[in-house]
Amino acid sequence: MSTQLPAHDSIVFFNGSLMPEKDVGIPIRDRGFIYGDAVFDATRTFGGRTFRLKEHIQRLYNSLRYLRIDPGLDPAEMERWSLEVVNHNHPLLPPGQDMWVMQRISRGVESSEPGAAEQPTVLIESHAIPFARRATLYRDGISVVTPSVPRIPPRFLSPRAKTHNYLNLIMGDLEVRDTDPNAWSVLLDEAGNLTEGRGSNIFLVKDGTVTTPRGQFVLEGITRGVVLDLAAGLGLPVAETDLDLYDAYTADEAFLTSTSLCVCPIGKVNGAAIGQGTVPGPVTQQLMTAFSDLAGMDYVEQYLAHLPS
Ligand code: PLP
Repeated sequence: MSTQLPAHDSIVFFNGSLMPEKDVGIPIRDRGFIYGDAVFDATRTFGGRTFRLKEHIQRLYNSLRYLRIDPGLDPAEMERWSLEVVNHNHPLLPPGQDMWVMQRISRGVESSEPGAAEQPTVLIESHAIPFARRATLYRDGISVVTPSVPRIPPRFLSPRAKTHNYLNLIMGDLEVRDTDPNAWSVLLDEAGNLTEGRGSNIFLVKDGTVTTPRGQFVLEGITRGVVLDLAAGLGLPVAETDLDLYDAYTADEAFLTSTSLCVCPIGKVNGAAIGQGTVPGPVTQQLMTAFSDLAGMDYVEQYLAHLPS
């Protein structure tokens, strides 16, 4: 790593080199800023070690191909620079903290010259996961609310690509948070099936079977994939299938998955308590334990350690 890098400040990778985070300026005509014409991905660390970085980078490159953006770096280079950013920035966090490392690539600056080649903007940055803000979710369960805003259908814009265009999910979130500032939104599709939240996939458990909406209609979360594998490994039947509010209200258990949440129990959907009201339910607990084992640390304890005393 270059010797000019600040020992006590966060760094980023920006358009070809590592530099202090505070020195980055994104041009005002960058298409990511103007149009949301960009993709990103986010990996988390556990005790400073990245988890499933290769899978996240593979998904990033699929998102890039979907948007026809060439980042000018291959996946191995993207991985190597991501690790450089983590290795510099993680030791700057307070003890016991972890972070996301995010790759963000836009189509670059809009050019007025006809036929001018686009130069993508490539940024790799990291920031701390808000453990304290989320700690109570693991004690009480998440309150999920389904807003009236439907998830955009895949033939309009595929949810399988992780792009900077989150307005549909944000509109859902705004509606939900106006009603209950602590609730998390999960959008329904036009047919009334559950899809996903602004940064999470949903699972239901009924009679021991672990179910989640089909991959075509959601971002296929890396955590979603890990949980499907863990459930199968535990001998639990799994199904990717259409699920609606009837399935949610009559489920025995429910949980959200995401890179930072890992597996987090849902307590209520639209105010209705899930199952017997025990959070987490037994299958969810099994999956949370299996996830911690795989990640090499008790991520639930890491969250609960931040509960207000
Ligand atoms: N769905 C959406 C829309 C997301 O933004 C995310 C977060 O990345 C997820 C689902 C969960 O995916 P992952 O488990 O890869 O974080």
